[in-house]
Amino acid sequence: MTDFRPLNAPPPGHDGEHRYVHVIGSTVFIDDRPGEDDWRIHFIGMVDGHAWWAVDVPADTDPSYGAAIDLRRFYGRAPEHQWLAAGRAVQIVEWARTHRFCGRCGAETALAEGERAMRCPGCDLLSFPRLSPAMITLVTRGEPGPEQEALLARGVQWDIPMYSCLAGFVEPGESLESAVVREVHEEVGITVSAPSYFGSQPWPFPNSLMIGFRARYESGEIECDPAEIADAGWFLPGELPMVPPGISIARRLIDAWLAESVDQVK
Ligand SMILES: [Zn+2]
Repeated sequence: MTDFRPLNAPPPGHDGEHRYVHVIGSTVFIDDRPGEDDWRIHFIGMVDGHAWWAVDVPADTDPSYGAAIDLRRFYGRAPEHQWLAAGRAVQIVEWARTHRFCGRCGAETALAEGERAMRCPGCDLLSFPRLSPAMITLVTRGEPGPEQEALLARGVQWDIPMYSCLAGFVEPGESLESAVVREVHEEVGITVSAPSYFGSQPWPFPNSLMIGFRARYESGEIECDPAEIADAGWFLPGELPMVPPGISIARRLIDAWLAESVDQVK
């Protein structure tokens, strides 16, 4: 059985093995020991038939306690469903660490019974784990095939000459499709149409859900927002710059587009 089912409590009658994702800062290692008695643990789900827990390792623990690695490096060292489970562990622990006090009245919170929430004993406010949806989009120009171009951009904060799809957080009150059109226009000054859903990916850096779209070029010339985009351009399938590694949905968007352009040639 190789799967990951996110759950908030072990299924009734589970008598199999337990695994513990130790979360040190935002790094992880997986062990069959639950850590110290007074450390907080959170159930995260069933992985390959085992019950998986997240262990909140206190910040003042000796760094030699375990050989933890960050989530990006964990990718590729474990099957993808285990990487997703470890990402959930980091997000749940980080949420519990940052919701120790009520945002409304300031009282100390406690884990709620029966649901994944922190409850305030003073005013009953429930605080759930935070997820920040972000759209990511591959914009194309021209008819499908080897002459169709894709718009890729390099972020100002990237320290390698890599180009990727455009991405940005969804604003309150906005649909995903509107976010695609707005972000592309803000970041590179062009107008796109026909956003179509591609797929999604949990992105635990620190708590995003990436929602992938394709969109078509409509009008305008590239004009980069210097606060976010160092460079952007139109690229043919055969002339791509350095693109992101396989961990990201950006790469899946680009690879799917490349596969299409090859199919058109056949
Ligand atoms: Zn309160």
